[in-house]
Amino acid sequence: MERQDLERNEGRGRVALVTGGASGIGLAVAGVLAGRGWRAVISDIDAARAREAAGPIGAEAVPFDVVDEAATEAAFAEIEGRIGPVEALVANAGLIQPGGRPEDLPMAEFDRIVAVNLRGVYVSCLTAGTRMARRGRGGIVITGSVTAWRTAPLHAYAPSKAAVVHMAACLAAEWGRSGVRVNAVSPGYVATPPLQAAIDRGKRDPRLLTDAAALGRLVEPAEIGHGVAFLLSDDAAAITGINLPVDAGWLAGSHLTT
Ligand code: NAD
Repeated sequence: MERQDLERNEGRGRVALVTGGASGIGLAVAGVLAGRGWRAVISDIDAARAREAAGPIGAEAVPFDVVDEAATEAAFAEIEGRIGPVEALVANAGLIQPGGRPEDLPMAEFDRIVAVNLRGVYVSCLTAGTRMARRGRGGIVITGSVTAWRTAPLHAYAPSKAAVVHMAACLAAEWGRSGVRVNAVSPGYVATPPLQAAIDRGKRDPRLLTDAAALGRLVEPAEIGHGVAFLLSDDAAAITGINLPVDAGWLAGSHLTT
C-alpha cells in the first residue's frame, strides 16, 4: 500500500452506511469512503440497482426504504449481524423536485418529498444514533442542499433541506456527550441523474447553474464524498452540528448572474 493510502485509511475497516447509495451522490460518497478504508454499505429503495452498484466499488448492499421504520430497524440488525456495527451513517436518500409555483404543487407530492427528505432522514439518524450513543462513538453526515440557505422555487424540497440541516445541529447537541458527531454537507449543483434529466428536458439551464458558481462549474459527485469523508474522519474530531457547503462557490457567487 502507498504511504498516501495508509495515511488515508481513515475508516480502519469500520462500517459506513450510505442511504440512497445506488445512484448519484450517494454512490460516489460510498466509493470515496470505500477508498479511504471504510467498509461501505449502500442502501436504496431500488434493491436491484443497489446490488448492481455495490460490487464495482467494493461495497455491500442492504436495501431498504428510509421512510419505513421497521425495514430500517431490520436492515440495521442485518448489517450488525452480518457485517458489523454501523459506525458512520450518511443520511443521503432524497427526492429532488422539479421547480414550479407553489399552487402547482399537489399536496400528495409535497407529502411524498417531505416523507423521504425529512422523515426518512430522521428515521435513519434515530436508528443509527441511538445505537452509536450506546456504544459511545459514531459519526453521522446528513445530505443537505444550498437551498437550505437560498430560496428556490422548490416549495417542498428547499424547506425539507433547511429542516434536516437544523436537525443535524439538534442531534449533535443531543448525542455529543455520548461521543457521536452529527453534521450536514450541503451540495451545490451536481449533474446526477435527476438534475441531468431536468437539464435534458430544458427545465434547468446548466449555464445559469455554472455562471452563479464562483468556480464557474458544477460540483463532481466525488467532491461531496471528500467533504463527507473529512467530517467522518478524526481530522474533524472537534466539529459537530455544522453544515458544510460543497458548492463550487455557488453561495459566494450567486450575485455573479445578477
Ligand atoms: P439520485 O436520484 O441520483 O439519488 C438518490 C437516491 O435515493 C436514488 O438512488 C433513490 O432511489 C434513493 N431513494 C429515494 N427514495 C428513497 C427511499 N425512500 N429510501 C431509500 N432510498 C431512496 O439523486 P442525487 O442527486 O444523488 O441526490 C442525493 C442527495 O443529494 C439527495 O438528498 C439530494 O437532495 C441531495 N442533493 C443533490 C443535489 C444535486 O445537484 N444533485 C444538490 C443538493 C443536494
